[in-house]
Amino acid sequence: MSRHYLHVDPTLCVGHRLCAEMLPELVTLDDFGYPIISPDPLPHDLGRRVRRSVGACPALALTLDGTPGRRARRDEQGPGTPSG
Ligand code: SF4
Repeated sequence: MSRHYLHVDPTLCVGHRLCAEMLPELVTLDDFGYPIISPDPLPHDLGRRVRRSVGACPALALTLDGTPGRRARRDEQGPGTPSG
């Protein structure tokens, strides 16, 4: 069974905090309100909620893949328009 990891691209994230609200088990916020993502493999029972959170990120800053600790690359995100 493959493992999946959640990543945030800090160059795209604008601190909407939506991910922390949707996934409090995996996402905490730093002192400035930006997300800190758990580096652990995603629990299988959270798969649907994680995918919904990735799709809901207004800045397209969240990615889901099978690589631990991998930073998301901008060219894999598609067009994004962080609005602040
Ligand atoms: S929802 Fe997206 S833009 Fe908002 S804090 Fe999370 S990763 Fe950043």
